[in-house]
Amino acid sequence: MKRTLNIDTIKKINEQILLKGWVHSIRTHGKITFIDLRDATGLVQVVFKGALDLKQEYIIEVIGEVKKRPENMINTEIKTGTIEIKADTINILSKAKPLPFPIDGDGYEINEKHRLKYRYIDLKRERLKNNLQKRFETISLIRNTLKEKSFIEIETPILTKSTPEGARDFVVPSRNFKGLFYALPQSPQQYKQLLISAGFEKYFQIARCLRDEDPRGDRQPEFTQLDLEIAFPESQDEIMNLIEKLFIKIVKELFEDKYITKIPFPKMTYKEAMEKYKTDKPDLRKNKNDENELAFIFITDFPMFEWKKEHNKWGAMHHPFTLPQEKDIDKIKAHPGNILAYQFDLALNGFEIAGGSLRTHNVSMLEACFEVMGHSKEEIKKQFKHYFDAFEFGIPPHGGIACGLDRFFAIAFNEKSIREVIAFPKTGDNKDLMINAPDKISKEQLKELGLK
Ligand code: ASP
Repeated sequence: MKRTLNIDTIKKINEQILLKGWVHSIRTHGKITFIDLRDATGLVQVVFKGALDLKQEYIIEVIGEVKKRPENMINTEIKTGTIEIKADTINILSKAKPLPFPIDGDGYEINEKHRLKYRYIDLKRERLKNNLQKRFETISLIRNTLKEKSFIEIETPILTKSTPEGARDFVVPSRNFKGLFYALPQSPQQYKQLLISAGFEKYFQIARCLRDEDPRGDRQPEFTQLDLEIAFPESQDEIMNLIEKLFIKIVKELFEDKYITKIPFPKMTYKEAMEKYKTDKPDLRKNKNDENELAFIFITDFPMFEWKKEHNKWGAMHHPFTLPQEKDIDKIKAHPGNILAYQFDLALNGFEIAGGSLRTHNVSMLEACFEVMGHSKEEIKKQFKHYFDAFEFGIPPHGGIACGLDRFFAIAFNEKSIREVIAFPKTGDNKDLMINAPDKISKEQLKELGLK
């Protein structure tokens, strides 16, 4: 017999069917056993005459007949509440130990470390299942929408070389070339620009980014971005409009309970935002107690450089590839602190959810920017040889943006932490408590890698 999904039982009244799933709960009334059977589509009630050695979370198969419930027994809480299954046979497919914590309810009251250690159990929880389902639907909508607009999704390497996005790199030792290291990408920034040089005029990627930052609040060492780049943008507005339309579509089609405070999204310069709100990610919700309000705002005209006290030198506010709003290279070198950039962020309810810029495509300008940041010409040409080479072979004006999807999901799903929207997140200090990473490696592995 072919398996029937729980949700389809309501269409099979008086038919003999086969169900498979988890024992969600179990009750006995005299000689009758009631089981709430759970599968990916929801719950259904199974009734069995006789004793059974079943426990919660056992995985079973049930053969029986679908019966209409009497009017007074209908359960409006579940989608299959008008029927129940009169079971003839129940077979156990897998037994289960008692769970370390309950999976009913939202689970916020359970110690988070405990939930993370047994994440595969925590993920049985309806709240987390819904989060991952909605996450998937949003990413599908993004992919479909961008495909319709002639974007192409291209994967870029995970084993690569350091990209200066301002954070510390994770590194991977090379076995073939002892003493040499790959770096994991802080973002696909350089690759996407090189794809533009190759003639892919509209690129995007749902990309994993890895940054070895000190544990700070609600960050993850690896996170997911919608990364995007286009050739020949008319102005930075073209990129902002694209992202604005995309977020409006996502909210309208997938988050019916939510409303956007203001459309078109307001725009404000960095200077205005700092003067008025003392932050470049102001929270412009009209009612901060309302969890359904989404207040987007674009912040534009960021300074190109900022003085990095820790390093005692100028650094890029966004990244070195951003286009300064000044064509005179001498002025850039003489007054780096006064130069603005074609850089724009998108903030939502007080969080930065996207950052992008027009890029410098002129080689001497790029060199000047690197020099301001204290790199010698030789050093630049060495570390970014591929990049300068590519530019010398011709590169169109271009620009792009990256949106932090985990943060957007946390806000859209009313979650306080981005860990609630990621299937297997790490703790605040970057540990995977379930799989126990990071971990030691064997002496043999170390030897093979030429490491002590
Ligand atoms: N690569 C940048 C980032 O990750 C975004 C961009 O400029 O496209 O912040």
